[in-house]
Amino acid sequence: MTIDGVAAATEGSFDVINPATGAAHATAPECTRAQLDAAMESAAKAYRDWRSDEGARREALRTAANVLMAAAGDIAPILTAEQGKPLGEATMEVFGAGVWLQYYADLEVPREVIQDDDSAFVEVLRRPLGVVAAITPWNYPLILASWKIAPALVAGNTMVLKPSPFTPRSTLRMGEILNTVLPPGVLNVVSGGNELGAWMTDHPLVRKISFTGSVATGKKVAAAAAPDLKRVTLELGGNDAAIILEDADPNVIVDKLFWGAFQNNGQVCSAIKRIYVPESLHDQVVEGLAELARTVKVGDGTEDGVKLGPINNRPQAARVAELVADAIAGGAVAASGGKAIEGDGYFFEPTILTNLTDGTRIVDEEQFGPALPVISYRDVDDAVARANATHFGLSGSVWSADADRAAEVAGQLECGTAWVNTHLALSPQQPFGGAKWSGIGVENGPWGLAGFTELQVLHRSKK
Ligand code: NAD
Repeated sequence: MTIDGVAAATEGSFDVINPATGAAHATAPECTRAQLDAAMESAAKAYRDWRSDEGARREALRTAANVLMAAAGDIAPILTAEQGKPLGEATMEVFGAGVWLQYYADLEVPREVIQDDDSAFVEVLRRPLGVVAAITPWNYPLILASWKIAPALVAGNTMVLKPSPFTPRSTLRMGEILNTVLPPGVLNVVSGGNELGAWMTDHPLVRKISFTGSVATGKKVAAAAAPDLKRVTLELGGNDAAIILEDADPNVIVDKLFWGAFQNNGQVCSAIKRIYVPESLHDQVVEGLAELARTVKVGDGTEDGVKLGPINNRPQAARVAELVADAIAGGAVAASGGKAIEGDGYFFEPTILTNLTDGTRIVDEEQFGPALPVISYRDVDDAVARANATHFGLSGSVWSADADRAAEVAGQLECGTAWVNTHLALSPQQPFGGAKWSGIGVENGPWGLAGFTELQVLHRSKK
């Protein structure tokens, strides 16, 4: 762990499992309550200077991006070993985190003049909030941490960051590397279990909680924030629908649909989690997806040519297996896959399910793994209604040869991002957040930066 700029030893530790083998490959430190207090106090102390020099912050973030990218070869194998994703994707994730640091290093913090006349000069400023508690999940530990670190720090806040206990080591390493160029206390990185997260959300020195994870935990975080009125941003789960319109050409879209669903082995908050397809295209789309699912290379992320790794952890692997078995028991047909791959590790056959509809658990719930239900529909309005008939509202997509018509349908989706003829297109400039239970607030772009600030009106009377 890194607390106050230096490596912090711990007495306790916990095993970190390599999901490709199912065996522990390393241990991670277990942060004590006293160490968390020390991290928070360090962040609070560092805040006094850090908030006062914007130029120094920007320069530090630019340097931080460089040292992080230079260390991609060091961090990526740690990420693959604990997360499971192919090494090439792990490397891209490190670079992605660097890109976010670069983007925010140069993004203006707006200072708006809203009145300048004989009576007054009135500006709206954005002030930092103070100590941010950042909590991340196990699917994209580094990139999702960077979505918090970059805007929070450039705005003048300091941070205590906690990765998921399933993927702590890559974030701890990233923390060490960033601390070679950041002043002590600006970014503290600690590790531990869920209880550590709860201590953070309850901590009196925290003024803002930036959380990415499941809806269930997000609700606990919101409740923990309430007594102290801590600010919260919650990036939570999704059950994204892709709606295919009748004029779409399956040959053109099937590959994109597949990767919109199976990127990171389906463990993406905003992956396609259900497809609605017109009856006329159903068989062609199912067969196209199933063919890709049958032929894609699944394996240990360190092996050449592997495109899909294991599911990250045992409980998640059990959940995916349970949802697929439940669907098949209810009459669904696996056009490909349908079960776990025998042997070590948490591997699961890439699965395309058909002959099922809404009301089946895998259609209604977030599966977060390599299994995709394809549901046929007759009427587009009905498909949109079904896509919206959920508490989730993260993102969705509409697929058509007529982009304008697709955009019109996409506009009816109750979600934070509605894509046309693509899915999972994200960038530092583009705000990302969920409607309904998929979140509160957004990350990325100037809107994401605003979430780490509070407005202040500076009103100078001229009379
Ligand atoms: P999770 O909610 O189980 O855990 C997320 C983090 O919260 C972990 O670091 C965990 O230790 C911590 N935590 C657990 N209990 C806590 C508590 N009571 N108080 C504070 N922190 C606590 O989620 P997960 O299983 O790690 O991640 C998968 C989920 O994350 C999926 O639902 C996925 O859709 C969602 N997700 C959302 C986004 C997004 O940007 N919207 C991105 C990635 C993942």
